[in-house]
Amino acid sequence: MKMKNIVVIINGIEMAELKIKVETCMDCPFSKVLPDPDPNDWFCDDDIKIVCLKANKNITVACRPYNDRKETSIPSWCPIKV
Ligand code: SF4
Repeated sequence: MKMKNIVVIINGIEMAELKIKVETCMDCPFSKVLPDPDPNDWFCDDDIKIVCLKANKNITVACRPYNDRKETSIPSWCPIKV
């Protein structure tokens, strides 16, 4: 388990520094879950994608919701990797 320091900046002013435990991107405040349904497969119409708002990249796409933690290991390109 990794500890990451996150600096919270609001309107250009540094407000706080948080230390968080990040096992997968799902624990990170820079990840966001979005819908990613498969239009050709009704069984996968609840698929999701998880994006990194810091790097503006997809972490995983076409992900079954129950696999979100399995498919979001921290990538090598993580911008806040320690
Ligand atoms: S890639 Fe890094 S910054 Fe982006 S969501 Fe994952 S842990 Fe957070």
